[in-house]
Amino acid sequence: MKALDELTFDNRFARLGDAFSTHVLPEPLDEPRLVVVSNAAMALLDLDPAAAETPVFAELFGGHKLWAHAQPRAMVYSGHQFGGYSPQLGDGRGLLLGEVYNEAGEHWDLHLKGAGLTPYSRMGDGRAVLRSSIREFLACEALHALGIPSSRALCVIGSDTPVWREKQERGAMVLRLAHSHVRFGHFEYFYYTKKPEQHKELAEHVLSLHYPECMEQPEPYLAMFREIVERNAEMIAKWQAYGFCHGVMNTDNMSILGITFDFGPFAFLDDFDAHFICNHSDHEGRYSFSNQVPIGQWNLSALAQALTPFISVDALKEALGLYLPLYQAHYLDLMRRRLGLTTAEDDDQKLVEQLLKLMQNSGVDYTLFFRRLGDESAALAVTRLRDDFVDLAGFDAWAEQYKARVERDGECSEAQRRERMHAVNPLYILRNYLAQNAIAAAESGDYSEVRRLHEVLSKPFEEQLGMEQYAQRPPDWGKHLEISCSS
Ligand code: AMP
Ligand code: MG
Repeated sequence: MKALDELTFDNRFARLGDAFSTHVLPEPLDEPRLVVVSNAAMALLDLDPAAAETPVFAELFGGHKLWAHAQPRAMVYSGHQFGGYSPQLGDGRGLLLGEVYNEAGEHWDLHLKGAGLTPYSRMGDGRAVLRSSIREFLACEALHALGIPSSRALCVIGSDTPVWREKQERGAMVLRLAHSHVRFGHFEYFYYTKKPEQHKELAEHVLSLHYPECMEQPEPYLAMFREIVERNAEMIAKWQAYGFCHGVMNTDNMSILGITFDFGPFAFLDDFDAHFICNHSDHEGRYSFSNQVPIGQWNLSALAQALTPFISVDALKEALGLYLPLYQAHYLDLMRRRLGLTTAEDDDQKLVEQLLKLMQNSGVDYTLFFRRLGDESAALAVTRLRDDFVDLAGFDAWAEQYKARVERDGECSEAQRRERMHAVNPLYILRNYLAQNAIAAAESGDYSEVRRLHEVLSKPFEEQLGMEQYAQRPPDWGKHLEISCSS
């Protein structure tokens, strides 16, 4: 265990120099206070959880103090936003405080979001509000607990600093952890500004630090791009299998590591809806739930374009061609497991598609359906779940196929089935209305609900005593909440 002042820094990105980032000091928040901390994330830095309760913790992560070896930097990048190219973005309100090593030799970027103005703030105020900081914190940690690759979050610090959005709110900071904060948009920036030397330096930095195994390959950059394609296919398959809608899949929000990154108006599906759009500024549904799959490919193509100085176009195209089949394979594998199947049959894809269509038509709760399906034998479960469907004949036909398929899958006891299915079908997910309740309490100074929700979501597959209210369908008011983009 380390004390807060014992973190070991090695700021490799900062060393790339001023063409890549700018030195900026955080602007402190007024009356910083701890809203919520992730003990699991504290452990990644070997920090004693008790340290979070000390005043110096809120001062460090509220922008008042810095470690002697921290080198706060605002990174420059660009990116395609809603399909159009924005030539200069960058950290407009976040700072890479530095890179820290833990005792296991892993290194983590400490990134403070909401840290004040930077040269890249454009028209913004450099701040983040409490509600969006809580949402980002909960989402990172909840996705990780579900087994979905994500950036992590150490804590949220609240304050009295006034911040104007549609109304006056209060400023907050969230401390984000990731092995790297390089985005697709970093590569696009150096490609489109025609800075070949820095572009190469960036590529070498990412390759050597984050894809060292690719350096053994005959074409290291191609091997790295293939790996990025594979990781994205797997990450997006997990989003689709668990009903996660990112909401702003711009290339500046896509991590070079293939982890879920930069949370805005994201949502988990309540009722299954393939066309769900969680971002209310997304008028055309570019980032709707089902569009996430082709957009994943679109984003990888944008990255491929920015990698043309290092990799031949034919090789890039071939690597891009891996995305869809890999996505399909991962998705189908997960969905089979969610259905309790251990073997593969050709018609499984159809079985999944038919079920989703029925769920869509009847507005069935996506998470609870799968959880309940594993509660008992296939025959008993489908009988009980039947009431949730409007098209009873359609559901009965599906249920017959499903029961037959389960039988062909092989013998297993009800207890085995339950254990196997509950291990992949969460009972608790970050429903928008749950986040909303926790935010409303936090905005009036009560942080207990955010902390409880975080705790519940850290073990999503385990039924937790007394936590039934977190495993319910949303009440009417909580069904179609519009999440503001102004964060
Ligand atoms: P996002 O949509 O949050 O991924 O942000 C897109 C770009 O806008 C990034 O360059 C952000 O740093 C910047 N940005 C978003 N909100 C603010 C803000 N309040 N102040 C300054 N820059 C911001
Ligand atoms: Mg962003």
